[in-house]
Amino acid sequence: MEASANSGAFWSLYNRLRGSSELSNPVGLEELTGFFAERMNPVADSEDKFDMEEMDRVQTWLASLPPVTEAGASFPSLQQLFSLGDVERGKAHLKRSPHGKASGWDGVSYATIMDLDNARLLHLLNECLKTRSIPNAWNSTLVGGVPKKGKDRRKPDGYRPVALESCILRFLTLLIHLRFTDVMAENDILPPSQNGFRAGFRTNNNCFVLRTLVDKAFAEGHPLYVAFVDISNAFPSTSHAVLWETLYDYGMTGVFFDWLRVLYATMTYHVSVNGQISKEFRSLCGVLAGDPLSPTLWNIFLSTFRLDIDEDDVNLIHRFVSHLEHADDMAIISSSPEGLQRHLDQLHSWCTAHFLQVNAAKSAVMIFGTLPSLFPDIRMGGEAVPIVSQWTYIGVVFESTRGNIFQAYYEKISRTAMSSFQAMMCGLERYTGRHKVPIRVAKQLYTALVDCHLIAGADICPDACTAPLAELERIQIACLRRVLGLSNHCFRAFLFTETGLLPIRFRRVSLCLRYLKYLFTLDPTFYARVALEESERLSGLMCSSWWGDLQRCLVSIDPALRLPALKDLSVADIEHREKAVARAGVDSVAGAVEDSRKCYLFRGRQEPSKDGKSSVQKACLRHYLTQVAVPRQRRMLTRLLADDLRPLGFSRLDSSEPQQCSFCPHIDTVEHALFQCWGSAELVLLRAHFFSQVGQYGIFDGDVVSDEEAVVTFRDSLSHWEAVRPLASFVYKVCMQLKQPEAL
Ligand SMILES: [Zn+2]
Repeated sequence: MEASANSGAFWSLYNRLRGSSELSNPVGLEELTGFFAERMNPVADSEDKFDMEEMDRVQTWLASLPPVTEAGASFPSLQQLFSLGDVERGKAHLKRSPHGKASGWDGVSYATIMDLDNARLLHLLNECLKTRSIPNAWNSTLVGGVPKKGKDRRKPDGYRPVALESCILRFLTLLIHLRFTDVMAENDILPPSQNGFRAGFRTNNNCFVLRTLVDKAFAEGHPLYVAFVDISNAFPSTSHAVLWETLYDYGMTGVFFDWLRVLYATMTYHVSVNGQISKEFRSLCGVLAGDPLSPTLWNIFLSTFRLDIDEDDVNLIHRFVSHLEHADDMAIISSSPEGLQRHLDQLHSWCTAHFLQVNAAKSAVMIFGTLPSLFPDIRMGGEAVPIVSQWTYIGVVFESTRGNIFQAYYEKISRTAMSSFQAMMCGLERYTGRHKVPIRVAKQLYTALVDCHLIAGADICPDACTAPLAELERIQIACLRRVLGLSNHCFRAFLFTETGLLPIRFRRVSLCLRYLKYLFTLDPTFYARVALEESERLSGLMCSSWWGDLQRCLVSIDPALRLPALKDLSVADIEHREKAVARAGVDSVAGAVEDSRKCYLFRGRQEPSKDGKSSVQKACLRHYLTQVAVPRQRRMLTRLLADDLRPLGFSRLDSSEPQQCSFCPHIDTVEHALFQCWGSAELVLLRAHFFSQVGQYGIFDGDVVSDEEAVVTFRDSLSHWEAVRPLASFVYKVCMQLKQPEAL
């Protein structure tokens, strides 16, 4: 893995080692096909669930729609075919976003498309659009089942369908997606409450808005009622007729609209299980599975959902916010149970008229602030919605019964970080043996699989509370200790100066500042931007807020980092603080190492590079960690540097209770044993061998006599690109010679 040429090869090897290859599916082909086909088609007993008159009306409307339409007056670009520029943009998009090697039914992969001549590709795509037709080979999608986490794999509902659409079809719909998103942005088609699958919107925006609404409710002393609504089977049950009518009403008709209707009417599916392929079936509702345009079409479909302004609505700086969407993840908000009920009733009628089903049992209501003495009875479609104290909204756990609404979220990310680290190390050490995973590999995996959990939510919950942050710090230190093979005696700052990683506290503040920079540059149509202003206002009133928490984090690092008022803030101010925080993180660990008496052996060392140049580095992945290939030698040297050899009984030069050398009257330090002691013939032989190996590098000529010479000789060997390998071997042999192996 260490030798993997690129990150793709690295991960494919890692996944192979972890044995994540596909296991056979215990659910049979017929059963899974039946299950998926049912999910992808309208519900059978729809009469009592939906507005049937509305269904007739929209179907009749669709039947009367001509196959060729003109684009609305506001959308001239929806009548224009693709240009070479569009093809280039599509290819650039694919290059940026990672995509698998898998090809669809037609055997064409994205790699093939990338190699195709742009002019020929353009001609092919435009011919399809002009003739409003789709080659048969593109018109079949393979559907496989991926096990859902924590579900029974012997039942079909334990599987999530994953569709493999023709790559060239996906490329065409990607270009339509890009065209559509351009015209939608220019014409403000999507409401600001929709945060999912939109360029320029960040995943945590809705959680940030919700957090600020909770802060504001606390500040104003009223409760906040939030319903998290589950729409059953949302994407697969989107009504095609309603979707086309919505696009038509916006004026988004024309050549793409016509072509999409043909695509949706002709697409067929086959389920693939254990190498067998099912009979073909059709899907009469739902946006296309596995298609890049589908999230956009869903957003358009949902965009007509609006709530009337209600007397109990809450606002951010005078802007009412009664609902938030992230694709199909909806939150409905009010300051009273009656207001919430009125909104939910309106949502329910909208869903009935748009042939979607809300699932009351899978939805939940949370009450932030003082709980009422009697819980309200909140209903959707006549069914009670459970009231809960904890809910995960777009990956973030909110909690209403403890002081910190993110307490449970911190606990969750701490648990996940620790368990993914343990799974990763145990998995690798099964192959390498304990303490033998190469450091570069372990660091890369730590960054990809553990760090991502430790930084989760850094943007929306600045760590103003010390206890949850201390837990994240504890986990980071435990992981890095294990990566380097050190015990809990080791010197903490050392873990960071030797790996170049930043302590999690600084890393999280840095990410929070990056989010501030993003919020700051948003225009005021974004809810998240208004929430930022509200948050600053609350902080000015001495109420709990995101802005206040971030200020506290910055001031705890350096009082000079306090942010000016939002109106006086600039991007340069934020960027200056981002750099200052990262620098403060490095300085704090480098300073601790510099100041510690424990680190005299390598104080002032140079970090060498392969080309013979060397420089002083405060923190980086040290060369000895990658250059010393024998794990036990690398670990012994690391332990020596980290002051983690106390179990072996060595003293430090300045020790208050120095031990005496077993062979002479000198203090029993490691460097004495290495370079000064003449009392043991074995030591003298090992030393002679070491000097014969490093003599060519001019490390030291002559006998080491003084303590200072011993330290300098050690440090110079450590600072040399080549000499560090013989040094590690020498250190290892001397320690083994002098100490009881069981102490190691
Ligand atoms: Zn001695």
